[in-house]
Amino acid sequence: MTAELIKGTEISKEIRAELEVRIRDLKEKHGITPGLATILVGEDPASQVYVGSKRKTCDQLGITSFHTGFPADVSRDLLLKKIDELNHDDAVHGILVQLPLPKHLSETEVLYAIDPDKDVDGFHPVNVGRLVAGDAVFLPCTPHGVQQLLVRKGIKTEGAHVVVVGRSNIVGKPVANILLQKAKGANATVTVCHTGTRDLASFTRQADILIVAAGRPKAITADMVKEGVVVVDVGVNRIGMTKDGKAILSGDVDFEGVKEKASFITPVPGGVGPMTITMLMMNTVRAAEMRIAK
Ligand code: NAP
Repeated sequence: MTAELIKGTEISKEIRAELEVRIRDLKEKHGITPGLATILVGEDPASQVYVGSKRKTCDQLGITSFHTGFPADVSRDLLLKKIDELNHDDAVHGILVQLPLPKHLSETEVLYAIDPDKDVDGFHPVNVGRLVAGDAVFLPCTPHGVQQLLVRKGIKTEGAHVVVVGRSNIVGKPVANILLQKAKGANATVTVCHTGTRDLASFTRQADILIVAAGRPKAITADMVKEGVVVVDVGVNRIGMTKDGKAILSGDVDFEGVKEKASFITPVPGGVGPMTITMLMMNTVRAAEMRIAK
């Protein structure tokens, strides 16, 4: 069997077209233009690229983006003051603080300072709690993107055994929580594996759907999966450079080997990656729509 590709680039385009309609409605029927505020501390090149792509996507969709850049040595007080200002700014529906932050700042303190109703990353404990309780407002972007890839590709999660490799707060735990909810596009039996798991392969081989977010290039090999498995590879690892200075990327799955056994598989790049920003835009639109009822 050679797997069918789950193309995040295409699914992402489909969702963006739906968002454009919602954004137009917000503007025309309610006079609301969704607004996303981004905060970047320091000059980390990768973070600059991520924030740049988020702002560019806002422009493409008709979402206003507000950006604040701080030097790497910005004080805690100044950063918290800015977040407070954005929390009270009616033109701002979503606030995103690009991680990682420099060591002198507590990421927890900074993320917890964001108004949960503007927490479009879904990292605030109120939103984590809402997700676990089955009453989510904002789903974290990458895990939500993973669920959308499955749903929109027509892959049934209901009753499936989903095995997640990785338990980070931004991918592993939330994707597990999303898929175990008693809800459409979820209702799976979920197993979560991590570095404390004994005999990882004995679990991955049981997966109907295998979601890998370990940050270890090619950690999942063909002998670790069963025939017909659906594989979602969240990993993005730089494994080298081309002669013209471009990064060579690898997922956490040995794509070439595993694709011969899987029924569906996400490529890296072009799988989960494009979905993350799209789901951020979806949360921003949702935050703006929530304003209508207020
Ligand atoms: P992370 O915080 O480093 O967490 C990795 C998780 O994988 C940890 O829970 C770790 O276990 C587990 N793990 C590592 N090696 C393992 C192994 N050999 N066997 C079993 N479990 C193992 O990483 P993350 O932030 O979740 O990101 C994971 C990957 O996804 C990275 O490659 C990252 O770049 C990528 N990512 C992509 C996107 C996107 O938009 N496409 C977004 C976010 C992340 P312990 O808890 O025991 O340490």
